[in-house]
Amino acid sequence: MDHLSSTDLDLTTARPFGISRWTHQRYPRVVLRLGDGAHEGLGEAAPNAYYGETRETVHAVLPTLLAGLPEDPFDLDALFATLERTLPHHHRSAKAAVESAALDIAARRAGVSVRRLLGAPEPAAPTSYTVGLGAPEEVAAQCGAAVEAGFRVLKVKLGGDHDERLLSAAREAAPDAQLRVDANAAWTERRALARLPMLEAHAVELVEQPVAADDLEGLAAVTRASRIPVAADESFVSTRDLRRLVVDVVNVKLAKVGGPRQAYLAMQSARALGFGVMLGCMIESSLGITAAAQVAGLADFLDLDGALLLASDPFVGATWSDGKVPVLPGGPGLGVRSAEPSA
Ligand SMILES: [Mg+2]
Repeated sequence: MDHLSSTDLDLTTARPFGISRWTHQRYPRVVLRLGDGAHEGLGEAAPNAYYGETRETVHAVLPTLLAGLPEDPFDLDALFATLERTLPHHHRSAKAAVESAALDIAARRAGVSVRRLLGAPEPAAPTSYTVGLGAPEEVAAQCGAAVEAGFRVLKVKLGGDHDERLLSAAREAAPDAQLRVDANAAWTERRALARLPMLEAHAVELVEQPVAADDLEGLAAVTRASRIPVAADESFVSTRDLRRLVVDVVNVKLAKVGGPRQAYLAMQSARALGFGVMLGCMIESSLGITAAAQVAGLADFLDLDGALLLASDPFVGATWSDGKVPVLPGGPGLGVRSAEPSA
């Protein structure tokens, strides 16, 4: 396999998107193209400074990662071992791009989807639609619009100053929706425990990352006290973390674990150890989202709305059923193509 190109991609969300740590509207990404002479494979890196990556670190590390590409695209274990050995536990979004592109080529050569190459089932769970932090009336308007658009599951970001008002506004605007909340590590253990009755009163289905990423004792205490399942996102960055976590659900993302195959392994490992599994995403184009959707059939909870929040999406890939379950493209590989007709 050869490196064809790595190009910058600037994604813009339709509106500024806020979580407890920040609000952004522009997201720098990298699109990787690999080739084997007959097929082209695509991968998207969605670096996140919170996990130690930027677009610059992705460009800096790609030559090292690509130096270990096997000649034979079906030599998958050699490829994965090389990615694991190179700068271990770091540069996961860059590795995710390499893994995606290499799997795309191997699957295209085999004439099957990446999902079938990995042996994953078809996606069955609906995705949530994420509503960022904002004023209660904006949150209510977005929740109402999402329900109108056919979403049954909403994920409301909390961790600001008006959590209770935001949640009541969301619940009022979407009385029948499955409602999940994500505090993005903003609460103390004490505050999280104090919030539980309010979350229960609004029939919240899942509470994500209530406390700081490194507060594993706090996370365990909230999990034990909560009747609502608790999910780890910032506290879960790789399969190694499963040994230390006391929590109901872990949120697996390609950019955290290093690609579709790593996500497949992380989800199987988590399930074997008794965790529920969420498959999440960053703000990504349909390229990254479709790579994740290939293993979405292994998840109990899906949050793959990254491309749905964009002002415009440069790729076409997975689509969505009426109930917002991902529908994989029919073609082999990832099945992703550029949104513009290619020359
Ligand atoms: Mg989260």
